[in-house]
Amino acid sequence: MRRIMRDELASLFSLTGKVAVVLGASRGIGAALADGLAAAGAEVLAAGRSEQADAPVVDGVTYVRCDVTNRHALESLCGRADRQGSFSVLINAAGITRPGAHGTARFEAFAATLETNLSAAYTACVIAADLMARHGRGSIIHVTSIASVLGFPDNPAYCAAKGGLRAMTRALALDYGAKGVRVNNLAPGYVHTGMTSGSFADPVEHQRRSAHTALGRWGRPADLVGAAVFLSSDASAYVTGIDLFVDGGWTAKGLV
Ligand code: NAP
Repeated sequence: MRRIMRDELASLFSLTGKVAVVLGASRGIGAALADGLAAAGAEVLAAGRSEQADAPVVDGVTYVRCDVTNRHALESLCGRADRQGSFSVLINAAGITRPGAHGTARFEAFAATLETNLSAAYTACVIAADLMARHGRGSIIHVTSIASVLGFPDNPAYCAAKGGLRAMTRALALDYGAKGVRVNNLAPGYVHTGMTSGSFADPVEHQRRSAHTALGRWGRPADLVGAAVFLSSDASAYVTGIDLFVDGGWTAKGLV
């Protein structure tokens, strides 16, 4: 049996020579993933709607304004990545949550959540995968959630969108596998970002969430970087259609 050499192992995880698009990277998890991919060698186009972005200002990361619900904006962004070099990685981290909607606002919240968290991810995935398929390799990562497999109160739209994203990934992994494009899910537990700042700041809610993990703490955006680099790189060349939970053991815990 041939033994793998140390430099070969390092190159398995390297993203040098790859161009990546990270959607939803103006702050939070997406910004950390853009930073991590650039540290691994990728040229990253980090996208969000905000003018004043908190995206990393580091070598290898360029912030681009793009609304993921606009198909033409996604085509333009992915086209730019394709012209820039070997467009090989798409991470879809754009997401919204509208818990606790009441009255007719429930219907608006449901539609908006599905549009951003699911339909836009489908559009981006198909645009990117068609471009990547032309040179026979690519990795697409959808940031799902523990809510893709578990129920959470007052937020059926978020659970439906993340559950749909999880199922869609397996279908797209089949459609694009023979073309060399892999599609996987990265499923965080509770991570301290703007999206979760309310429950993070509330001592009771904070502790409830810590206690629900095996590791006894909330996640940090940087906790997701290793898994994202793995799924983006040749280290995961034979991995497609999976859920990679980075949840501190939330989904492993039976007795709360
Ligand atoms: P966040 O801090 O609120 O960041 C959300 C990101 O999505 C921002 O960069 C935002 O950028 C972008 N976004 C939203 N709508 C967009 C649109 N129409 N077009 C382009 N970008 C859009 O939340 P986060 O916690 O980092 O969440 C990132 C992803 O992780 C989401 O998919 C979320 O569902 C998922 N997630 C989060 C947690 C958690 O505990 N935090 C757990 C599981 C999964 P702009 O506002 O600038 O457009």
